[in-house]
Amino acid sequence: MESAAATPPSSAAPAKKPAVRGWPGVGPQLAERLAKIDIFSPADLIFHLPLRYEDETRLTLLADARPGVPVQCEVEVRSCEVTPPPRRQLVAHATDASGEVMLRFVHFYPSQQKQLAVGARLRVFGELRDGFFGAEMIHPRIKPVAAGEPLPESLTPVYPTTAGLAQSALRKLVAGALRHNGIRDELPDELRRRLNLPSLPDALSLLHAPPPSVSILDIEDRGHPAWQRVKLDELLAQQISLRRAYAARRAKNAPSLPLLDTLTRDLLGQLPFALTGAQARAFAEIARDLASDHPMQRLLQGDVGSGKTCVAALAMLQAAESGRQAVLMAPTEILAEQHFRKLAAWLAPLGIEVAWLSGSRKKKEREATMARLASGEILLAVGTHALIEDPVALPLLALAVVDEQHRFGVRQRLALREKGQAGESPHMLMMSATPIPRTLAMSYYADLDVSVLDELPPGRTPIITKLIKDERRDEVIARVRHACVAGRQAYWVCPLIEESEALQLKTAQETYEMLSEALPDLPVGLVHGRLKNDEKSATMAAFVAGDIKVLVATTVIEVGVDVPNASLMVIEHAERFGLAQLHQLRGRVGRGVHESVCILLFAQPLSQTGRERLKAIYENTDGFVIAREDLRIRGPGEFIGARQSGVPLLRYADLEEDAVLVDIARELAEEILRDAPRVADAVTARWFGGRAALLKA
Ligand code: ADP
Ligand code: MG
Repeated sequence: MESAAATPPSSAAPAKKPAVRGWPGVGPQLAERLAKIDIFSPADLIFHLPLRYEDETRLTLLADARPGVPVQCEVEVRSCEVTPPPRRQLVAHATDASGEVMLRFVHFYPSQQKQLAVGARLRVFGELRDGFFGAEMIHPRIKPVAAGEPLPESLTPVYPTTAGLAQSALRKLVAGALRHNGIRDELPDELRRRLNLPSLPDALSLLHAPPPSVSILDIEDRGHPAWQRVKLDELLAQQISLRRAYAARRAKNAPSLPLLDTLTRDLLGQLPFALTGAQARAFAEIARDLASDHPMQRLLQGDVGSGKTCVAALAMLQAAESGRQAVLMAPTEILAEQHFRKLAAWLAPLGIEVAWLSGSRKKKEREATMARLASGEILLAVGTHALIEDPVALPLLALAVVDEQHRFGVRQRLALREKGQAGESPHMLMMSATPIPRTLAMSYYADLDVSVLDELPPGRTPIITKLIKDERRDEVIARVRHACVAGRQAYWVCPLIEESEALQLKTAQETYEMLSEALPDLPVGLVHGRLKNDEKSATMAAFVAGDIKVLVATTVIEVGVDVPNASLMVIEHAERFGLAQLHQLRGRVGRGVHESVCILLFAQPLSQTGRERLKAIYENTDGFVIAREDLRIRGPGEFIGARQSGVPLLRYADLEEDAVLVDIARELAEEILRDAPRVADAVTARWFGGRAALLKA
């Protein structure tokens, strides 16, 4: 029966699927339980792969069994009793030709008591241990057998399951599905042979019922070719979906913005520095994309301080050269305002006006600005999400730049795409200082082109990182004073208190008072998320101008703040921050010519993760290495932005561990999309079903 082979595990809508019905021996209750572990079809069963295995293909003599190693023995029950309360236990005494064993059950059913009748022949599976009365097995699995009953021919799978769903029931169902339904391999034979992997049906059968010749270790750690085949299929489905989403977006129309070398050239002549090689390369890539009449979808990735803003400014001017509009959207008010100031300063000499749109601007001013954008009088705008949430009309929009793109949801990015002219999609440039490890980038951003700024502007001195115990805070305060007296400025970042924003504010306020008192001769400022926007920007402006020497801050300053004269960063309770966050915070210093120091104050005792994170940030300055460490410590599921990216998370494959397979899958995906689109459909339907459509958003 090949009929159900085409039924993918998730072919139905992702929302709510009915539990299976009408399978032989599956009543409503069992169906409910299967639904709990996402099993709705025979194919779901076939892709429900074991967590581990037990070897019941051989018998071990009691005398040969080593403690702590799971074994199967065949024994005869000599005696059996239930011990009296309070410690009611079922205890049986059993022997084989080589020795004896006590079988002990702390909880038991009457049925087990019956199976352990004196004289019964049993196969018992469990670990032997040395008990008070000699060798014993606690809660062994027991199976009554007749003398000479044949042994199973394959390893026994242990499946992920849920309460009330026994392994034996799952095994029977899976075996039935394999026998009656099967799975088709969508990959052409030739391709599979080239990869030297088993067929998908063979791989799945083997994983459900491995022959005893297969090493348990090999399949349990998922390095076995059968696992590779399954994981390759999953990765292939992911890569195909992503490539298709990319192609669908690329197929849309976009305004062509040739590089006219007018405004862009003026800006280059006007900047107080020359572009780094990396900036020049990235801008060339962007300029080429912008000239095309299909929308650019490019990620500009560069470590903190690598100079992304200036590349964005050039791209925006390339739009303005053609008389079209471009916007830059940033996730926070502070960051957006910084971008605005920087752009305005660079572009004023060119006679280009930049509009500033944020929630903090007075209604009148905002409306006036909006009117000038709507009429096309102003071409460039910077703002927060106010850019998209206000009824802002951008009739000439041709390019949207999104800074720290992982902080925006899919919905917000989509809203930007909706602006501009009917029938046209604007070019999109995403910027991120959160370096994504290569393998993750290939998956999560397989639908983006990537430009990397892998070079910092010259003249930076490396940041010195110090780990200092909390108790030595006075010394740290003395350092702050020293730096400020020498003409520098300092940040003091308050501890992150995830449980309570109120507590976090209180701490920030207290830290501010403590430092004001300890440093009476120095102007100290405070910024946190709850300040009114104009208070926030006044404080930031004073810090930029050097009127404030020490800036006490919560993580609102995490991204983008650029004050080259600030050379000292103190982070309190650094152990509470994530690695990416620490890296971002540290990146606020080391932006000028002065030697910069980042002091990480930590409290003891440190958790294991806390310790690992501090070690990683202390030892590394390269954002990519730090991101890798972050990935290792936290796991990819947690990775910033991954959850919002709309990319389905993987069930079996692991992007780091299976990096080699990711590479293969990526190449295969292109080949299959080109040569065998029907295969592409079948593979994605099998793994993602209805969810594949989500990726097109
Ligand atoms: P990020 O990539 O973190 O957003 P910025 O764009 O804020 O970095 O740039 C960091 C600092 O480096 C800014 O002060 C910027 O003016 C300066 N900068 C950018 N490019 C160069 C360059 N090629 N040479 C010297 N300084 C530069
Ligand atoms: Mg930036």
